[in-house]
Amino acid sequence: MMMLEARGIAKTFVLHLQGGTRIPVLDGVDLQVRAGECVALSGPSGAGKSTLMRSLYGSYRADAGSILIRHGGVMVDIARADPRLVLRVRRDSLGYVSQFLRVVPRVPALDVVAEPAVARGVPLDQARRAAAALLDRLNIPHRLQALPPATFSGGEQQRVNLARGFIAGHPVLLLDEPTATLDDANRDIVIGLIREATRRGAAVVGIFHDAAVRGAVARRTLNVQPHRDAA
Ligand code: ADP
Repeated sequence: MMMLEARGIAKTFVLHLQGGTRIPVLDGVDLQVRAGECVALSGPSGAGKSTLMRSLYGSYRADAGSILIRHGGVMVDIARADPRLVLRVRRDSLGYVSQFLRVVPRVPALDVVAEPAVARGVPLDQARRAAAALLDRLNIPHRLQALPPATFSGGEQQRVNLARGFIAGHPVLLLDEPTATLDDANRDIVIGLIREATRRGAAVVGIFHDAAVRGAVARRTLNVQPHRDAA
């Protein structure tokens, strides 16, 4: 079943504070991901991989093209949907693990992780138990689970972010460098989480600089080429 279908995505950044300098990044990118598939985005630094991910999530508005995401029984064009619909698609259907955790002051790690499940209607106690189980699995000790992640190390914050990204079981999942700051043991745990997600039918798109991770989870690669006119 088709879960994500992007056609002809174009994105040019216009730097208004620099006299309107135009930075063309994406031009006619196509991507199709079916249930149970994991596609890796490859290409040199600056090619536009993160820009494509943010466009797929609706954080950047694509200038052209369509980005259909399966949301319940329908395909929603995230590039054109109104903001309230984008939020509903993100709550129920489309997960995104960014490279860095956006830290909310005073909220303990456990609740940071539980929140996407609570937003989908899981009772708080049950969501917290699931959050603790995921954090245990990712080797975040209990004493840290009770603290806000602001003071955590980069690797600990990334694992909290991953737990938050995986808890809600979204059918489409975008992963931006999910193992960049992890040691080998935790990297293998993340490989396990990604495989479990695809086995239950999730469609995953990821940027994986670590070739071992890419090889372990992705069956296909989309090569994002630097734009020829790029500054
Ligand atoms: P990659 O993830 O492949 O390393 P990026 O998508 O981060 O590449 O960046 C692609 C190009 O787009 C780069 O030239 C970068 O400077 C530019 N870019 C990315 N985000 C913005 C932005 N918000 N404003 C202006 N230019 C941007």
